Amino acid sequence: MFDLHTHSNCSDGELSPQALIGRAREKGVTALAITDHDTVKAWQDGLQALGGPELIPGVEFSTTWNSLGIHIVGLNVDPWHDALQTGVQFQQMARAQRAKAIAEQLEQLGHSGSLTAATGYAGDAAVGRPHFARFLVETGAVSTIEQAFKRYLGAGKPGDVREHWADLETVVGWICAAGGVAVLAHPLKYRLTRTRLKRLLNAFIAAGGQALEVVSGQQTQFQTQDLAKLAQAHNLAASCGSDFHRPGPTWSELGRFHPLPQTAQPVWDLF
Ligand code: MN
Ligand code: MN
Ligand code: MN
Repeated sequence: MFDLHTHSNCSDGELSPQALIGRAREKGVTALAITDHDTVKAWQDGLQALGGPELIPGVEFSTTWNSLGIHIVGLNVDPWHDALQTGVQFQQMARAQRAKAIAEQLEQLGHSGSLTAATGYAGDAAVGRPHFARFLVETGAVSTIEQAFKRYLGAGKPGDVREHWADLETVVGWICAAGGVAVLAHPLKYRLTRTRLKRLLNAFIAAGGQALEVVSGQQTQFQTQDLAKLAQAHNLAASCGSDFHRPGPTWSELGRFHPLPQTAQPVWDLF
């Protein structure tokens, strides 16, 4: 039972890497990749010694392709490789610059001090819009998180600042240079037409991408079969993962998804 897409509290997940591994063991996962957003901080000494699932070092990089936010999972990477560390630093800088830009927008609207507060709320994780939303609630500018997004941070509002992530070629390049396999994450989440999805796949393959996330959390058998065919038609291996963020109804449980179809080439054949 492979779960190759999960998040810990090193990005926007709830559980510590240790707790995540423990829960994966309880759920019968035998191989686990922790794929935090733009960081490999979860990968620490001593994790393997916990026992339980085999651990596959991973990451989930954000990128922009034709103005679309796309996620690329890197599996079986060397987390300490220079290329990967460079990538992580680049993406962290992109996030920090965006946070600064959001704070500047809020400042202009008369809400000063948001960057310091948001950084504090984020703790070890990267600063994002939810932290600014909390700032706006706690200073009384709005009464709920939803209102903060509606008035300040949501689509088209002043705090809706675009990130300047590395491009697709660069992100896939980091993963490959670090000995990993690049996987196009949750292909149905982008809501692309079939033509555009194929165009994305071709760009991904040209960049060195080798696998498609054929199973992402709970999806229909039809979607699974369809994505397996798409992977096969493009000579891509197939990956599977829950994209687990926290226990509860909003996210898929660890290991809780359809198995890969028999016809698919499992991505772990490439490790
Ligand atoms: Mn996430
Ligand atoms: Mn994602
Ligand atoms: Mn994810």
